[in-house]
Amino acid sequence: MSSTPMRDIPRVGFVSLGCPKALVDSEHILTRLRAEGYHVAPDYHSADLVVVNTCGFIDAAVEESLDAIGEALAENGRVIVTGCLGAKGDTVLAHHPQVLAVTGPHAAAEVMEHIHDHLPPPADPYTSLIPPQGLKLTPRHYAYLKISEGCNHRCTFCIIPGLRGDLVSRPAGEVLGEAEHLVAAGVRELNVISQDTSAYGLDLKYRTSFWNGRPVKTRITELARALGGLGAWVRLLYVYPYPHVDELIPLMAEGHILPYLDMPLQHASPRILRLMKRPAHAENALARIRAWRETCPGLTLRSTFIAGFPGETEEDFRQLLEFLEAAELDRVGCFTYSPVEGAAANALPDPVPEEVKAERRDRLMELQAGISARRLARRLGQRIEVLVDAVTEDGAVARSAADAPEIDGVVLVEDGHGLEPGARVEVTVTDTGEYDLWARLDPGAA
Ligand code: SF4
Repeated sequence: MSSTPMRDIPRVGFVSLGCPKALVDSEHILTRLRAEGYHVAPDYHSADLVVVNTCGFIDAAVEESLDAIGEALAENGRVIVTGCLGAKGDTVLAHHPQVLAVTGPHAAAEVMEHIHDHLPPPADPYTSLIPPQGLKLTPRHYAYLKISEGCNHRCTFCIIPGLRGDLVSRPAGEVLGEAEHLVAAGVRELNVISQDTSAYGLDLKYRTSFWNGRPVKTRITELARALGGLGAWVRLLYVYPYPHVDELIPLMAEGHILPYLDMPLQHASPRILRLMKRPAHAENALARIRAWRETCPGLTLRSTFIAGFPGETEEDFRQLLEFLEAAELDRVGCFTYSPVEGAAANALPDPVPEEVKAERRDRLMELQAGISARRLARRLGQRIEVLVDAVTEDGAVARSAADAPEIDGVVLVEDGHGLEPGARVEVTVTDTGEYDLWARLDPGAA
């Protein structure tokens, strides 16, 4: 077999910023690069060109992205920009006019065209070097599975629909094919992501697609059921509480998918939710949560909230705290309102001063720390299954069904030194904190 000498192989450096959706875009580009015979350079200096996949969600992310582009230009000089900030090409070019090209998010084909223009592929691609699951940026044992792109809502604080467009779902057969490859390659946990997981398939009118000769509707319930049959943990992220989400809870209760729902509610005051143009109403959310917990008592609920949205009064904020007390969510994140450039909410009257925003966020997180600790304390003495992420000298760092990677807590298995990353084992919970659990494989030996 003839081969291209190593020194002739073009090398592309890659910087990946942003959320799991951006990470999946990076993986697609990296997979195509390797498929065409490019090498991925480990540093700026050995790269012939650098791709920076940016985030543009909040001002801090814009700054981080602009800094990353500046660093790549200073260290390497030949830079292609893609991702959410790339959708605002003018901003990128105003700061860094010397970049070679700029594309928006979810544009692997366009990025590849620019790479071809500036760094042609080698004549003899090493196609056999690509692992069957493509190139992953996550550890081998878990992966993000993107089921759709874009969003049909127009929440006033969000610019994602402007950046990524309306909902475009991937046919269920295509998603299941990718999931099957991932599981065959050793992935033990599939984290299903999108901007709005409940809306999956709406744009395709829930069309039936085919997977291994079987019809599967492009709809979240049918997709979740099929994914659950692959043998890996299946976790659903970014789920809005639409009525048909009720159908998912029995799948969780029966063990097909993990009893975990990440549901970004953002607020609980009806007035603020209207100003935000959110798809769901807090009272409905509370009634739903209660019904879900009756069907599936082990359900873990995660949500995120915004403190200090324009016009938020102390009364609105009090309603949010009351909702949290009543809902007893397991995991909560809270951000202060950030006036992202281009968001409709910036034009609303009565902005909340920064110090009030920060003070409200801190109050919310303090209240929630007590709720989380109480919810976790119920797990003391329980026997639970965990997935090992890493092994350190203190034991194994693992996660249970209640812990999504990177955003939730962990389970520290104190006698887990002999375990391997990716192992799924049963442990007994021996201690609980505000966010994390401590456990042992063999509690009798403690
Ligand atoms: S649901 Fe709202 S916050 Fe989420 S991506 Fe769509 S517009 Fe943005």
